[in-house]
Order: sequence, then structure tokens, then C-alpha cells
Amino acid sequence: MDVVERSCFTFDLGAVRRNAETLLRAAGGAELWAVVKAEGYGHGAVDVSKAALEAGASALCVATLPEALHLRAALRNARIVVMGPVSEREVGEARAARLELVAADGQVPEGVRVHIKVDTGMGRWGLSELPSPGRDVVGLMSHLASAESDPAFTQLQIERFKEATAGLSSLTRHVANSAATLRYAEARFDAVRCGIALYGISPFDAGPEAEGLVPALRWESYLALVKELAPGESTGYGRRFVADRPTWIGIVPVGYADGFRRDMTGTEILVEGARRRVVGTISMDALAVELDGRLPHGTPVTLVGGGILIEEHARVADTIGYEIATGLNTRSGRARRVTTA
Ligand SMILES: *Cc1c(COP(=O)(O)O)cnc(C)c1O
Repeated sequence: MDVVERSCFTFDLGAVRRNAETLLRAAGGAELWAVVKAEGYGHGAVDVSKAALEAGASALCVATLPEALHLRAALRNARIVVMGPVSEREVGEARAARLELVAADGQVPEGVRVHIKVDTGMGRWGLSELPSPGRDVVGLMSHLASAESDPAFTQLQIERFKEATAGLSSLTRHVANSAATLRYAEARFDAVRCGIALYGISPFDAGPEAEGLVPALRWESYLALVKELAPGESTGYGRRFVADRPTWIGIVPVGYADGFRRDMTGTEILVEGARRRVVGTISMDALAVELDGRLPHGTPVTLVGGGILIEEHARVADTIGYEIATGLNTRSGRARRVTTA
């Protein structure tokens, strides 16, 4: 890696295909719809969509109209569902681009295929009662609030959905996210909408291998500087790390502007294959890692991959893998981007 390439993201589409196959098996006959909002959770929406479709997914789900139009330009025939709200002007664009919309308030748009969303306990988008579905309605859906952590409430939501949609089984009914697809056979209905698991990130506390999922993202950089701190010397803003003995540190040219968040101090990364601790305040463009001795400039560093999980960084930052993944700055040109088949 030369100096311009401060870091490199590699997206493994083979891993995405394997995860899609795993989810299809878990879906037990229901269709798999790949959720590729937020630029495919940072992995590249078009690439991930193609891989998921190749592996047997039958539709793509995004949050916004611009996301859907971006996909439509690359995938002329794919079924694309916009799950979030759209403006009146956008309904026309959705119609022209053959997109499907979700009606989650009183208005059911016309002349475009629509899914009606029922609120069964998420307390966000969704109608409290199902209107009698009109001609353009093709699907009925709901969203689960805590499928990764609360079986009783999840069962209650599934029951409510089943009741609300009974007698309408000619429409495509869909409720399950990744966690529900992996845990609740009764949540499958006709289609499952999976995001996080497609990328090989677990929706649960345990790692992805517990679900047979393969992480699809690697993030690599290098030691741009290696130095020894004398006792009493510090590294970084605020002097949060002060050496209490002679300490070798490496500076990696990646920081919070790349998505390596300030609250990830203390997390581990690989330096030449060995786990090492990130120390001191993470800067906008750099972070420090504690070493056990002098290493050459250019020594490879793995920030995600090779056993370093996004889930681990999330735990240190007291958040979820979703937020770490979507926060990675994979598209700005700060990092190189490589996609492998
Ligand atoms: C994001 C989203 C999903 C996918 O959730 P994962 O936990 O990433 O599988 C499914 N349905 C809706 C409505 C969503 O917004």
C-alpha cells in the first residue's frame, strides 16, 4: 500500500452469496428479500444486490427513493421495495421506475405497487389497523422491535400480524428481519427481509459463526509510524494514554473520519496478525496502537477481518454492529475499495 492508500476496504461477494444461501435455508420456503439500504450497510448496494440475487434473493429493499433509483439504474428488472416514506413528488418517480412503495400512514399511493405496513408494536411507521386493501396493494408487512432479544414480545407481534392479516393470504405477507429469520419459524410468512446477516454480521450478541454467517468486509491499513514512548510521555489529544514504562506504539493513518469512531479506544486490531489494543484518543485521521516492540514502517494492520469482528468494535463503543458498519466511510475516496467475486 502506498502513502495515498491510507486504508483499503475489501468486500467479499462470495461471503454475501453464502450468507444469502444460509438465510434462504433458514427461511424454509419463504422468499428472501435482501435489505441493501444505507449503501448496503456500507458494503456497496449494487454489488451486494447482484450477489444476493444470484444466490436466490427475489427482491431488494431500501429505505429511500434515491437509493431505489440508484439500484434501478444498475438493475433494470429487479423487484425493488422502498420501505421508508416518500414525498408526493416521489410517488410519480417511483411509478416511472417500477418501484414498490410502503404505505405506513393514511395515504395509499395509487398506480404503483404498494405494501401496507401495520404497526404491531414497533411504535414507529405503520397503521394501527389494516384498511381494506385496494387494487394496487401487493403486500402486507410489519416490523419487529426486538427479535434479537425479546421472544415474548416478538411472539406477540407475530400473533398480532397473523390476526390482522388473516383472510388476506393472497397478498405477500412479510415481517421477519435477520434475527427473526434465524430464530422464529413462525415469522417467515411469505418473505423475509434480511439485512445485517447478509453481510455476515450477527444481530445477536454472539459472533456470526454461531449462525453460520461469514463476514463480508475486511478493512486493512498499515503502521505509518512506529515510536517508543518514554515513561510519562503520551500519545494523542487530551493525553489520555500516558506510558508508565517504555512503550512502543504504532500510528495507523485511519481515524474517526474514516469511521473508526472515537469511542472505540480500547478495541483490538491485528498488527502483523497479532491482536493489539488501540490506545489514546482516536483522531480524525489517525489512531495509536500499543505494540510489544519495534516494528517496521508499513507493517500490515487489520482493522476489521481476520477474526476482528465489527461486533467487537460495537461492544467497545456500546452500540450495535449496524451503526459501526453504516458509519464506515467506504465511499468518499479516503480509502481504496476492492470488491472480490
Ligand atoms: C432495516 C430493515 C430490515 C432489515 O433488518 P436486519 O436486522 O438488518 O435484518 C427489515 N425490515 C425493515 C422494515 C427494515 O427497516
